[in-house]
Amino acid sequence: MKSIKIPETLRKLNEIFAKNGFEAYLVGGAVRDVLLGKKASDWDITTNARPEQMMKIFHRVIPTGIAHGTVTIHFMGSEIEATTFRSESGYSDGRHPDQVTFDATLEDDLSRRDFTMNAIAASLADGSIIDPFEGQKDIKSKIIRTVGNARDRFLEDGLRPIRAIRFSGQLNFEIEKETYETIKLTEVQEKIKSISMERFRDEFEKILRSEEPSSALHRMEDCGILKAFIPELADCRNCQQADMRGFHEFDVLDHNLYACDGAPRENQIVRLSALFHDIGKKDAKVIEKIEYPKGSGSFVEQIHFHGHEHYSSEKTKEILTRLKFPNAVISQVTHLIEQHMFFFEENWSDAAVRRFLVRVKPECVEDLFALRIADIYGMHRCKVDPMNDGVQKIFILRERIKKIQSKQTALSLKDLAVNGNDLIKAGIPAGKKLGFILNELFQCVLDDPEMNEKEKLLTVAGNIAAKNT
Ligand code: ATP
Ligand code: MG
Repeated sequence: MKSIKIPETLRKLNEIFAKNGFEAYLVGGAVRDVLLGKKASDWDITTNARPEQMMKIFHRVIPTGIAHGTVTIHFMGSEIEATTFRSESGYSDGRHPDQVTFDATLEDDLSRRDFTMNAIAASLADGSIIDPFEGQKDIKSKIIRTVGNARDRFLEDGLRPIRAIRFSGQLNFEIEKETYETIKLTEVQEKIKSISMERFRDEFEKILRSEEPSSALHRMEDCGILKAFIPELADCRNCQQADMRGFHEFDVLDHNLYACDGAPRENQIVRLSALFHDIGKKDAKVIEKIEYPKGSGSFVEQIHFHGHEHYSSEKTKEILTRLKFPNAVISQVTHLIEQHMFFFEENWSDAAVRRFLVRVKPECVEDLFALRIADIYGMHRCKVDPMNDGVQKIFILRERIKKIQSKQTALSLKDLAVNGNDLIKAGIPAGKKLGFILNELFQCVLDDPEMNEKEKLLTVAGNIAAKNT
Protein backbone atom coordinates (compact mmCIF):
# COMPACT_ATOMS: atom_id res chain seq x y z
CA MET A 1 0.00 0.00 0.00
CA LYS A 2 1.30 3.43 -0.91
CA SER A 3 2.16 5.84 1.89
CA ILE A 4 3.47 9.37 2.30
CA LYS A 5 5.80 10.83 4.89
CA ILE A 6 3.90 12.49 7.73
CA PRO A 7 5.61 15.63 9.10
CA GLU A 8 6.86 15.56 12.69
CA THR A 9 4.25 18.08 13.94
CA LEU A 10 1.39 15.97 12.62
CA ARG A 11 2.86 12.75 14.05
CA LYS A 12 3.02 14.40 17.47
CA LEU A 13 -0.55 15.65 17.01
CA ASN A 14 -1.61 12.11 16.15
CA GLU A 15 -0.07 10.74 19.35
CA ILE A 16 -2.62 12.82 21.30
CA PHE A 17 -5.52 11.71 19.09
CA ALA A 18 -4.42 8.05 19.41
CA LYS A 19 -3.84 8.21 23.19
CA ASN A 20 -7.47 9.31 23.53
CA GLY A 21 -8.76 6.56 21.24
CA PHE A 22 -9.31 8.61 18.07
CA GLU A 23 -8.17 8.31 14.45
CA ALA A 24 -6.97 11.25 12.39
CA TYR A 25 -6.10 11.65 8.71
CA LEU A 26 -4.51 14.28 6.57
CA VAL A 27 -6.94 15.06 3.74
CA GLY A 28 -7.71 17.33 0.79
CA GLY A 29 -5.23 19.75 -0.78
CA ALA A 30 -2.32 18.78 1.48
CA VAL A 31 -2.34 15.12 0.39
CA ARG A 32 -2.84 16.13 -3.25
CA ASP A 33 0.08 18.56 -3.12
CA VAL A 34 2.42 16.07 -1.41
CA LEU A 35 1.54 13.44 -4.05
CA LEU A 36 2.39 16.04 -6.67
CA GLY A 37 5.79 16.51 -5.03
CA LYS A 38 4.90 19.99 -3.77
CA LYS A 39 4.93 21.48 -0.31
CA ALA A 40 1.44 21.56 1.23
CA SER A 41 0.18 25.13 1.78
CA ASP A 42 -1.92 24.20 4.82
CA TRP A 43 -2.99 21.11 6.72
CA ASP A 44 -6.56 19.83 6.88
CA ILE A 45 -7.27 16.92 9.18
CA THR A 46 -10.35 14.71 9.30
CA THR A 47 -11.07 12.66 12.41
CA ASN A 48 -13.70 10.63 14.24
CA ALA A 49 -13.26 12.94 17.28
CA ARG A 50 -16.12 15.43 17.76
CA PRO A 51 -15.33 19.15 18.15
CA GLU A 52 -16.08 19.10 21.88
CA GLN A 53 -13.76 16.10 22.31
CA MET A 54 -10.95 17.90 20.45
CA MET A 55 -11.51 20.92 22.68
CA LYS A 56 -10.90 18.66 25.68
CA ILE A 57 -7.78 16.86 24.50
CA PHE A 58 -5.87 19.87 23.04
CA HIS A 59 -4.89 23.07 24.87
CA ARG A 60 -5.69 25.69 22.25
CA VAL A 61 -8.64 24.93 20.04
CA ILE A 62 -10.69 27.65 18.31
CA PRO A 63 -14.22 26.68 17.21
CA THR A 64 -13.89 28.18 13.72
CA GLY A 65 -16.79 26.35 12.02
CA ILE A 66 -18.57 24.40 14.69
CA ALA A 67 -21.79 23.88 12.61
CA HIS A 68 -19.71 21.94 10.09
CA GLY A 69 -17.70 20.21 12.79
CA THR A 70 -14.55 22.26 12.15
CA VAL A 71 -12.11 23.56 14.76
CA THR A 72 -8.64 25.05 14.45
CA ILE A 73 -6.02 23.41 16.63
CA HIS A 74 -2.98 25.53 17.53
CA PHE A 75 -0.20 23.00 17.94
CA MET A 76 3.61 23.33 18.02
CA GLY A 77 3.44 26.71 16.26
CA SER A 78 1.07 25.53 13.51
CA GLU A 79 -2.64 26.06 12.93
CA ILE A 80 -4.35 22.87 11.85
CA GLU A 81 -7.97 22.72 10.66
CA ALA A 82 -9.63 19.59 11.97
CA THR A 83 -13.10 18.47 10.89
CA THR A 84 -15.10 15.58 12.24
CA PHE A 85 -15.95 12.87 9.64
CA ARG A 86 -19.22 13.94 8.13
CA SER A 87 -21.60 13.08 5.37
CA GLU A 88 -23.95 15.50 3.73
CA SER A 89 -27.29 15.30 2.01
CA GLY A 90 -29.62 17.71 0.26
CA TYR A 91 -28.28 20.99 -1.11
CA SER A 92 -31.47 22.96 -1.66
CA ASP A 93 -29.61 26.30 -1.61
CA GLY A 94 -26.79 25.08 -3.84
CA ARG A 95 -24.22 25.62 -1.17
CA HIS A 96 -25.06 24.47 2.37
CA PRO A 97 -26.05 20.87 2.83
CA ASP A 98 -29.52 20.59 4.41
CA GLN A 99 -28.22 17.90 6.70
CA VAL A 100 -24.77 17.31 8.08
CA THR A 101 -24.42 13.97 9.80
CA PHE A 102 -21.54 13.37 12.16
CA ASP A 103 -21.92 9.63 12.64
CA ALA A 104 -20.07 9.13 9.38
CA THR A 105 -17.11 7.01 8.36
CA LEU A 106 -13.90 8.15 6.70
CA GLU A 107 -15.29 6.88 3.37
CA ASP A 108 -18.49 8.91 3.80
CA ASP A 109 -16.37 11.95 4.49
CA LEU A 110 -14.24 11.42 1.38
CA SER A 111 -17.32 10.89 -0.79
CA ARG A 112 -18.70 14.40 0.00
CA ARG A 113 -15.53 16.04 -1.35
CA ASP A 114 -15.46 17.73 -4.74
CA PHE A 115 -12.83 16.01 -6.88
CA THR A 116 -11.11 12.63 -6.80
CA MET A 117 -7.71 14.33 -6.36
CA ASN A 118 -9.09 16.07 -3.24
CA ALA A 119 -10.72 12.95 -1.80
CA ILE A 120 -7.58 11.10 -0.71
CA ALA A 121 -6.70 10.62 2.96
CA ALA A 122 -3.38 9.73 4.58
CA SER A 123 -3.33 8.16 8.05
CA LEU A 124 -1.44 10.36 10.49
CA ALA A 125 -0.27 7.17 12.25
CA ASP A 126 1.76 5.68 9.39
CA GLY A 127 1.12 7.80 6.29
CA SER A 128 -0.82 5.03 4.55
CA ILE A 129 -3.10 6.25 1.78
CA ILE A 130 -6.85 5.69 1.61
CA ASP A 131 -8.05 6.41 -1.92
CA PRO A 132 -11.51 4.96 -2.62
CA PHE A 133 -12.13 7.10 -5.76
CA GLU A 134 -8.80 6.48 -7.48
CA GLY A 135 -7.61 10.04 -7.01
CA GLN A 136 -3.95 8.99 -7.33
CA LYS A 137 -4.63 7.65 -10.80
CA ASP A 138 -6.24 10.96 -11.81
CA ILE A 139 -3.35 12.93 -10.30
CA LYS A 140 -0.93 10.83 -12.38
CA SER A 141 -2.88 11.53 -15.55
CA LYS A 142 -3.46 15.17 -14.51
CA ILE A 143 -7.23 14.84 -14.68
CA ILE A 144 -9.87 16.67 -12.66
CA ARG A 145 -12.93 14.50 -12.14
CA THR A 146 -15.80 14.88 -9.68
CA VAL A 147 -16.41 12.30 -6.98
CA GLY A 148 -19.59 10.72 -8.36
CA ASN A 149 -21.87 12.14 -11.04
CA ALA A 150 -20.66 15.54 -12.26
CA ARG A 151 -24.12 17.01 -12.87
CA ASP A 152 -25.34 16.06 -9.39
CA ARG A 153 -22.21 17.37 -7.70
CA PHE A 154 -22.29 20.67 -9.62
CA LEU A 155 -25.98 21.16 -8.90
CA GLU A 156 -25.28 20.67 -5.17
CA ASP A 157 -22.79 23.53 -5.13
CA GLY A 158 -22.31 26.01 -7.98
CA LEU A 159 -18.81 26.87 -6.79
CA ARG A 160 -17.45 23.45 -7.77
CA PRO A 161 -17.26 24.14 -11.54
CA ILE A 162 -15.29 27.31 -10.78
CA ARG A 163 -13.01 25.35 -8.46
CA ALA A 164 -12.49 22.80 -11.24
CA ILE A 165 -11.40 25.56 -13.59
CA ARG A 166 -9.24 27.23 -10.93
CA PHE A 167 -7.45 23.93 -10.18
CA SER A 168 -6.99 23.23 -13.90
CA GLY A 169 -5.12 26.50 -14.33
CA GLN A 170 -3.23 26.27 -11.04
CA LEU A 171 -2.07 22.66 -11.46
CA ASN A 172 -1.99 22.51 -15.25
CA PHE A 173 -4.53 19.65 -15.24
CA GLU A 174 -7.28 18.89 -17.76
CA ILE A 175 -10.89 18.73 -16.67
CA GLU A 176 -12.27 15.32 -17.68
CA LYS A 177 -14.17 15.79 -20.94
CA GLU A 178 -17.69 14.90 -19.80
CA THR A 179 -17.21 16.82 -16.56
CA TYR A 180 -16.18 19.85 -18.58
CA GLU A 181 -19.20 19.58 -20.88
CA THR A 182 -21.46 19.31 -17.81
CA ILE A 183 -20.33 22.78 -16.73
CA LYS A 184 -21.95 24.17 -19.88
CA LEU A 185 -25.43 22.73 -19.15
CA THR A 186 -28.01 25.49 -18.67
CA GLU A 187 -29.10 24.22 -15.25
CA VAL A 188 -25.47 24.09 -14.05
CA GLN A 189 -24.85 27.59 -15.42
CA GLU A 190 -27.83 28.83 -13.41
CA LYS A 191 -26.41 27.21 -10.27
CA ILE A 192 -23.02 28.79 -10.88
CA LYS A 193 -24.63 32.24 -11.19
CA SER A 194 -26.31 31.79 -7.82
CA ILE A 195 -23.08 31.65 -5.78
CA SER A 196 -22.11 34.66 -3.70
CA MET A 197 -19.67 37.25 -5.05
CA GLU A 198 -17.36 36.59 -2.10
CA ARG A 199 -17.04 32.89 -2.97
CA PHE A 200 -16.42 33.76 -6.63
CA ARG A 201 -13.87 36.39 -5.63
CA ASP A 202 -11.89 33.95 -3.46
CA GLU A 203 -11.48 31.59 -6.43
CA PHE A 204 -10.76 34.50 -8.78
CA GLU A 205 -7.98 35.65 -6.44
CA LYS A 206 -6.47 32.16 -6.46
CA ILE A 207 -6.57 32.22 -10.28
CA LEU A 208 -4.71 35.54 -10.22
CA ARG A 209 -2.01 33.97 -8.04
CA SER A 210 -1.45 31.05 -10.43
CA GLU A 211 1.49 31.06 -12.79
CA GLU A 212 -0.56 31.88 -15.91
CA PRO A 213 -4.01 33.24 -15.01
CA SER A 214 -4.89 33.32 -18.73
CA SER A 215 -5.17 29.54 -18.71
CA ALA A 216 -8.10 29.38 -16.23
CA LEU A 217 -9.58 32.65 -17.53
CA HIS A 218 -9.73 31.28 -21.09
CA ARG A 219 -11.57 28.24 -19.77
CA MET A 220 -13.91 30.51 -17.84
CA GLU A 221 -14.65 32.35 -21.04
CA ASP A 222 -15.25 29.11 -22.91
CA CYS A 223 -17.72 27.93 -20.24
CA GLY A 224 -19.66 31.20 -20.08
CA ILE A 225 -18.51 31.90 -16.51
CA LEU A 226 -16.49 34.98 -17.46
CA LYS A 227 -19.54 36.48 -19.15
CA ALA A 228 -21.63 35.76 -16.04
CA PHE A 229 -19.27 37.38 -13.51
CA ILE A 230 -17.10 39.85 -15.44
CA PRO A 231 -19.06 40.62 -18.64
CA GLU A 232 -16.99 43.78 -19.25
CA LEU A 233 -13.91 41.58 -19.76
CA ALA A 234 -15.71 38.94 -21.84
CA ASP A 235 -16.98 41.74 -24.12
CA CYS A 236 -13.40 42.61 -25.11
CA ARG A 237 -13.34 39.48 -27.29
CA ASN A 238 -12.99 40.47 -30.95
CA CYS A 239 -12.24 44.10 -30.17
CA GLN A 240 -9.42 44.23 -32.72
CA GLN A 241 -6.47 46.56 -32.23
CA ALA A 242 -3.87 45.27 -34.65
CA ASP A 243 -3.03 47.72 -37.43
CA MET A 244 -0.08 48.25 -39.76
CA ARG A 245 2.02 49.68 -36.94
CA GLY A 246 2.41 46.15 -35.51
CA PHE A 247 2.09 47.04 -31.81
CA HIS A 248 -0.55 44.43 -31.16
CA GLU A 249 -1.24 40.98 -32.45
CA PHE A 250 -4.09 40.03 -30.09
CA ASP A 251 -7.58 41.37 -29.58
CA VAL A 252 -8.23 43.36 -26.39
CA LEU A 253 -9.36 40.34 -24.34
CA ASP A 254 -6.30 38.21 -25.08
CA HIS A 255 -4.00 41.20 -24.67
CA ASN A 256 -5.43 41.85 -21.20
CA LEU A 257 -5.16 38.18 -20.20
CA TYR A 258 -1.57 37.87 -21.37
CA ALA A 259 -0.62 41.17 -19.75
CA CYS A 260 -1.95 39.67 -16.51
CA ASP A 261 0.34 36.62 -17.06
CA GLY A 262 3.23 39.02 -17.52
CA ALA A 263 2.62 40.84 -14.21
CA PRO A 264 4.56 39.73 -11.11
CA ARG A 265 2.80 36.69 -9.67
CA GLU A 266 2.93 37.84 -6.05
CA ASN A 267 1.65 41.35 -6.76
CA GLN A 268 -2.14 41.25 -6.77
CA ILE A 269 -2.48 44.98 -7.45
CA VAL A 270 -0.42 44.84 -10.64
CA ARG A 271 -2.04 41.56 -11.77
CA LEU A 272 -5.52 43.11 -11.40
CA SER A 273 -4.40 46.32 -13.10
CA ALA A 274 -2.93 44.39 -16.02
CA LEU A 275 -6.05 42.25 -16.38
CA PHE A 276 -8.29 45.30 -16.69
CA HIS A 277 -5.98 48.01 -18.03
CA ASP A 278 -7.46 48.13 -21.54
CA ILE A 279 -11.01 47.10 -20.71
CA GLY A 280 -12.33 50.53 -21.81
CA LYS A 281 -10.82 50.34 -25.30
CA LYS A 282 -14.09 49.25 -26.85
CA ASP A 283 -15.66 52.56 -25.81
CA ALA A 284 -12.75 54.67 -27.06
CA LYS A 285 -12.09 52.96 -30.39
CA VAL A 286 -11.70 55.22 -33.44
CA ILE A 287 -10.63 53.98 -36.88
CA GLU A 288 -8.77 56.50 -39.01
CA LYS A 289 -7.96 56.04 -42.69
CA ILE A 290 -4.53 57.35 -43.59
CA GLU A 291 -2.70 57.48 -46.88
CA TYR A 292 0.19 55.01 -46.78
CA PRO A 293 2.80 55.41 -48.11
CA LYS A 294 2.27 59.15 -48.34
CA GLY A 295 1.33 60.29 -51.84
CA SER A 296 0.58 56.72 -52.98
CA GLY A 297 -3.16 57.24 -53.18
CA SER A 298 -3.75 54.01 -51.23
CA PHE A 299 -5.19 54.08 -47.73
CA VAL A 300 -4.74 51.92 -44.63
CA GLU A 301 -6.61 51.88 -41.34
CA GLN A 302 -5.06 53.12 -38.12
CA ILE A 303 -6.82 52.29 -34.87
CA HIS A 304 -6.80 54.76 -31.96
CA PHE A 305 -8.11 54.50 -28.43
CA HIS A 306 -7.60 58.04 -27.12
CA GLY A 307 -8.52 58.39 -23.45
CA HIS A 308 -9.26 54.68 -23.04
CA GLU A 309 -7.45 54.68 -19.69
CA HIS A 310 -10.32 56.71 -18.15
CA TYR A 311 -12.98 54.32 -19.43
CA SER A 312 -10.86 51.37 -18.28
CA SER A 313 -10.43 52.82 -14.83
CA GLU A 314 -14.15 53.56 -14.43
CA LYS A 315 -15.19 50.09 -15.56
CA THR A 316 -12.61 48.49 -13.29
CA LYS A 317 -14.00 50.40 -10.34
CA GLU A 318 -17.45 48.98 -11.10
CA ILE A 319 -16.11 45.44 -11.47
CA LEU A 320 -13.98 45.41 -8.32
CA THR A 321 -16.79 46.99 -6.31
CA ARG A 322 -19.20 44.33 -7.55
CA LEU A 323 -16.67 41.60 -6.66
CA LYS A 324 -16.40 43.16 -3.18
CA PHE A 325 -12.68 43.89 -3.23
CA PRO A 326 -11.50 46.16 -0.39
CA ASN A 327 -11.55 49.91 -1.12
CA ALA A 328 -7.76 50.14 -0.77
CA VAL A 329 -7.32 47.60 -3.58
CA ILE A 330 -9.88 49.37 -5.78
CA SER A 331 -8.23 52.75 -5.41
CA GLN A 332 -4.70 51.46 -6.07
CA VAL A 333 -5.75 49.46 -9.13
CA THR A 334 -7.85 52.24 -10.69
CA HIS A 335 -5.05 54.73 -10.07
CA LEU A 336 -2.51 52.55 -11.91
CA ILE A 337 -4.91 52.02 -14.80
CA GLU A 338 -5.62 55.74 -14.99
CA GLN A 339 -1.85 56.40 -15.24
CA HIS A 340 -0.81 53.46 -17.41
CA MET A 341 -0.42 55.52 -20.62
CA PHE A 342 2.41 57.66 -19.18
CA PHE A 343 4.84 58.73 -21.82
CA PHE A 344 8.43 59.50 -20.82
CA GLU A 345 11.08 61.05 -23.02
CA GLU A 346 14.72 61.42 -22.06
CA ASN A 347 14.58 65.16 -22.68
CA TRP A 348 12.11 65.66 -19.83
CA SER A 349 13.22 68.42 -17.45
CA ASP A 350 13.63 67.68 -13.74
CA ALA A 351 10.42 69.65 -13.20
CA ALA A 352 8.60 67.26 -15.55
CA VAL A 353 9.94 64.27 -13.59
CA ARG A 354 8.82 65.92 -10.33
CA ARG A 355 5.33 66.46 -11.80
CA PHE A 356 5.24 62.79 -12.85
CA LEU A 357 6.08 61.81 -9.25
CA VAL A 358 3.33 64.04 -7.89
CA ARG A 359 0.79 62.64 -10.35
CA VAL A 360 1.69 58.97 -9.88
CA LYS A 361 2.72 59.13 -6.19
CA PRO A 362 6.19 57.81 -5.28
CA GLU A 363 4.81 54.66 -3.62
CA CYS A 364 3.01 53.66 -6.87
CA VAL A 365 5.87 54.21 -9.28
CA GLU A 366 7.33 50.68 -9.18
CA ASP A 367 3.87 49.13 -9.65
CA LEU A 368 3.27 51.40 -12.63
CA PHE A 369 6.58 50.28 -14.16
CA ALA A 370 5.66 46.63 -13.54
CA LEU A 371 2.33 47.30 -15.26
CA ARG A 372 4.11 48.80 -18.28
CA ILE A 373 6.34 45.72 -18.55
CA ALA A 374 3.28 43.46 -18.24
CA ASP A 375 1.61 45.51 -20.99
CA ILE A 376 4.64 45.02 -23.26
CA TYR A 377 4.62 41.27 -22.51
CA GLY A 378 0.92 41.12 -23.40
CA MET A 379 1.49 42.57 -26.86
CA HIS A 380 3.25 39.52 -28.24
CA ARG A 381 3.22 37.12 -25.30
CA CYS A 382 6.95 36.73 -25.27
CA LYS A 383 9.69 37.42 -22.75
CA VAL A 384 10.35 41.15 -22.50
CA ASP A 385 13.75 42.07 -23.91
CA PRO A 386 15.62 44.41 -21.52
CA MET A 387 16.84 46.27 -24.60
CA ASN A 388 13.23 47.06 -25.58
CA ASP A 389 12.80 50.81 -25.91
CA GLY A 390 9.98 50.91 -23.34
CA VAL A 391 12.07 49.01 -20.78
CA GLN A 392 15.12 51.19 -21.38
CA LYS A 393 12.98 54.27 -20.74
CA ILE A 394 11.84 52.80 -17.43
CA PHE A 395 15.49 52.28 -16.40
CA ILE A 396 16.30 55.90 -17.25
CA LEU A 397 13.20 57.33 -15.56
CA ARG A 398 13.91 55.26 -12.44
CA GLU A 399 17.41 56.73 -12.21
CA ARG A 400 16.08 60.26 -12.70
CA ILE A 401 13.52 59.70 -9.92
CA LYS A 402 16.23 58.37 -7.57
CA LYS A 403 18.27 61.50 -8.14
CA ILE A 404 15.31 63.77 -7.47
CA GLN A 405 14.33 61.88 -4.33
CA SER A 406 17.89 62.12 -3.00
CA LYS A 407 17.59 65.91 -3.12
CA GLN A 408 14.50 65.77 -0.90
CA THR A 409 12.68 68.49 -2.80
CA ALA A 410 9.00 69.21 -2.13
CA LEU A 411 6.72 66.64 -3.72
CA SER A 412 3.51 67.46 -1.89
CA LEU A 413 1.81 70.48 -0.28
CA LYS A 414 3.01 69.20 3.08
CA ASP A 415 6.62 69.73 2.01
CA LEU A 416 6.14 73.45 1.29
CA ALA A 417 8.07 75.92 3.46
CA VAL A 418 4.79 77.74 4.17
CA ASN A 419 1.37 76.50 5.23
CA GLY A 420 -2.12 78.02 5.34
CA ASN A 421 -1.53 79.61 8.73
CA ASP A 422 1.58 81.40 7.48
CA LEU A 423 -0.45 82.88 4.62
CA ILE A 424 -3.26 83.98 6.95
CA LYS A 425 -0.71 85.64 9.23
CA ALA A 426 0.65 87.43 6.16
CA GLY A 427 -2.81 88.91 5.60
CA ILE A 428 -4.37 86.54 3.06
CA PRO A 429 -7.92 85.74 4.13
CA ALA A 430 -8.87 82.11 4.85
CA GLY A 431 -11.10 80.46 2.26
CA LYS A 432 -11.09 79.00 -1.22
CA LYS A 433 -8.51 81.44 -2.52
CA LEU A 434 -6.03 80.33 0.12
CA GLY A 435 -6.13 76.79 -1.29
CA PHE A 436 -5.62 78.15 -4.79
CA ILE A 437 -2.59 80.18 -3.70
CA LEU A 438 -1.04 77.24 -1.86
CA ASN A 439 -1.39 75.15 -4.97
CA GLU A 440 0.19 77.87 -7.12
CA LEU A 441 3.12 78.01 -4.68
CA PHE A 442 3.48 74.27 -4.94
CA GLN A 443 3.59 74.46 -8.77
CA CYS A 444 6.20 77.17 -8.44
CA VAL A 445 8.37 74.95 -6.21
CA LEU A 446 7.94 72.00 -8.57
CA ASP A 447 9.37 74.20 -11.32
CA ASP A 448 12.18 75.50 -9.15
CA PRO A 449 12.93 73.78 -5.81
CA GLU A 450 15.12 76.72 -4.73
CA MET A 451 11.93 78.70 -4.31
CA ASN A 452 10.99 76.57 -1.31
CA GLU A 453 11.91 79.19 1.31
CA LYS A 454 9.42 80.96 3.52
CA GLU A 455 10.38 84.54 2.55
CA LYS A 456 10.36 83.83 -1.19
CA LEU A 457 7.04 82.03 -1.08
CA LEU A 458 5.35 84.76 0.99
CA THR A 459 6.42 87.30 -1.63
CA VAL A 460 4.96 85.16 -4.44
CA ALA A 461 1.79 84.61 -2.40
CA GLY A 462 1.42 88.36 -1.93
CA ASN A 463 1.80 88.92 -5.68
CA ILE A 464 -0.81 86.30 -6.55
CA ALA A 465 -3.24 87.65 -3.94
CA ALA A 466 -2.79 91.20 -5.27
CA LYS A 467 -3.36 90.05 -8.87
CA ASN A 468 -6.54 88.18 -7.99
CA THR A 469 -8.36 90.70 -5.91
P1 ATP B 1 -6.04 24.97 -1.81
O1 ATP B 1 -6.07 25.15 -0.32
O2 ATP B 1 -4.71 24.70 -2.39
O3 ATP B 1 -6.76 26.03 -2.53
P2 ATP B 1 -7.69 22.69 -1.24
O4 ATP B 1 -8.01 21.47 -2.02
O5 ATP B 1 -7.01 22.50 0.07
O6 ATP B 1 -6.86 23.63 -2.18
P3 ATP B 1 -9.73 24.06 0.23
O7 ATP B 1 -10.69 25.09 -0.24
O8 ATP B 1 -8.72 24.41 1.25
O9 ATP B 1 -9.03 23.49 -1.07
O10 ATP B 1 -10.61 22.83 0.74
C1 ATP B 1 -10.06 21.70 1.42
C2 ATP B 1 -10.77 20.42 0.96
O11 ATP B 1 -12.18 20.51 1.26
C3 ATP B 1 -10.72 20.17 -0.55
O12 ATP B 1 -9.52 19.51 -0.91
C4 ATP B 1 -11.93 19.33 -0.75
O13 ATP B 1 -11.68 17.99 -0.34
C5 ATP B 1 -12.94 19.92 0.21
N1 ATP B 1 -13.76 20.97 -0.41
C6 ATP B 1 -13.52 22.32 -0.41
N2 ATP B 1 -14.49 23.00 -1.02
C7 ATP B 1 -15.38 22.09 -1.42
C8 ATP B 1 -16.63 22.17 -2.10
N3 ATP B 1 -17.13 23.33 -2.51
N4 ATP B 1 -17.30 21.01 -2.31
C9 ATP B 1 -16.80 19.82 -1.88
N5 ATP B 1 -15.64 19.68 -1.25
C10 ATP B 1 -14.94 20.80 -1.01
MG1 MG C 1 -6.57 24.07 1.50
